[in-house]
Amino acid sequence: MARERLYLFDTTLRDGAQTNGVDFTLADKLTIARLLDELGIDYIEAGYPGANPIDTDFFSERRAMKARLTAFGMTRRPGRSASNDPGLVALLDAHADAICFVAKSWDYHVRVAIETTEEEALASIRDSVRAAKAKGREVLLDCEHFFDGYKAKPDFALACAQAAYDEGARWVVLCDTNGGTLPHEVERIVGEVCEKIPGDHIGIHAHNDTEQAVANTFAAVRSGARQIQGTLNGLGERCGNANLVSIIPTLKLKSEYADKFETGVSDEALGRLARVSHAVDELLNRAANRHAPYVGESAFATKAGIHASAIMKEPATYEHIAPERVGNRRKLLVSDQAGRSNVLAELERIGLAVDKDDPRVIRLLDEVKEREAIGYAYESADASFELLARRLLGKVPHYFEVDKFDVNVEQRNNAKGERVTVSQAVVKIKVGGQELISVAEGIGPVNALDLALRKDLGEYQSYIKGLELTDYRVRILNGGTQAVTRVLIESADETGERWTTVGVSANIIDASFQALMDSIVYKLVKSGAPA
Ligand SMILES: [Zn+2]
Repeated sequence: MARERLYLFDTTLRDGAQTNGVDFTLADKLTIARLLDELGIDYIEAGYPGANPIDTDFFSERRAMKARLTAFGMTRRPGRSASNDPGLVALLDAHADAICFVAKSWDYHVRVAIETTEEEALASIRDSVRAAKAKGREVLLDCEHFFDGYKAKPDFALACAQAAYDEGARWVVLCDTNGGTLPHEVERIVGEVCEKIPGDHIGIHAHNDTEQAVANTFAAVRSGARQIQGTLNGLGERCGNANLVSIIPTLKLKSEYADKFETGVSDEALGRLARVSHAVDELLNRAANRHAPYVGESAFATKAGIHASAIMKEPATYEHIAPERVGNRRKLLVSDQAGRSNVLAELERIGLAVDKDDPRVIRLLDEVKEREAIGYAYESADASFELLARRLLGKVPHYFEVDKFDVNVEQRNNAKGERVTVSQAVVKIKVGGQELISVAEGIGPVNALDLALRKDLGEYQSYIKGLELTDYRVRILNGGTQAVTRVLIESADETGERWTTVGVSANIIDASFQALMDSIVYKLVKSGAPA
């Protein structure tokens, strides 16, 4: 049976740009647009030309993409003609393949927010769609507050959708702008709309205010909608938009959808999904959500030993899909609850396969248990576990030695008479008989120590050039007689690989130093630096 086409519309660069704390530069926008295009997204809504300089710049020239680049904007203002509305004129001049207009479809908003009549609101939709069609653009209409509007006054909400469709808009998008609609309501209302307007002209735009944006999206598809709007990692105003990173694998891997529909995302592109998701976090300088469905670090993690042995024999016992399909991997957590099978599986994954009866496996397991008892957490620090295992098997070269380090924090008045706190670190290391001393200032003591450590590693410097600290987490543990500090450091390098290392000590600087050292040594091992 031929599968029906579902269209994916990404609004990371428009609705996602409304996320608290997110500020895209033009370069960021171009990078994300490229990622989306390579993923096989059909429409990329890149911004609101005329509303801010970055979006205006984005649309000031034609950008070559397979996807249809879409500019967002308002329908003509009430009481003006289309040609006499500068906002609309700028939108029509933007170098875009498609234009997505937004119009209010809730009578309450028409009255209170834009203070006009329903007739004028409908005329504005018709005129705007007509003007964009005349310019040769594909046209979409976002019916803002559609679901609330439909509940309040269905005739008017429907009339907005119908007006756009009758004028030749390719898509009429039903928006749950306030995000409060529930899946059973979406299913019913979209079903009713699809009796008037064919579903292959209907889109869904769901917000996540009841954490059901993804569920609402699927409810709409079940009722006939054939365009899905969403964002990468669910970015978006307030609680975010429907998360395409969760929606895409469900569409492609769950038979209810996969048997019925096809999208522009190939299997090969799906295999890069985790990387795309992490690339966006990286760009925003955010730590990736470990518990994100499909792509999170914990999405396929198993802790208990008994599950682990089952998973090794038959992965389907505890996994709803094969992690590789979305570019993720199975993770057997090595911890004090772990059995021998977790350790063996993890050793095999990192290329250190040993015989299952090798006595060193038990030694490693004992070592993990002992160290976890004093605060280490290897299940969160895969790179530190790998180093522990390699050291036990005699597979970590002696690269360099830190002879001593010194970190100081000083508070004083600067030249302008302002109170400032300055951190400075001095590190003395020995590399191949050579003694090196590095000094660095940082925004805090750990930052200063990190910079000083990585400033001059002699012959190894070229191997750690791309090394970057991406996340730093501290926890005070109250175990036994005294509190200890656990530091987890996440690092990344030029290949995009990320790893986490751990340090534990009564002293936070010492704990950080251990984790930093593990990260550097891990990078050297991984890069094949000679001993
Ligand atoms: Zn929205």
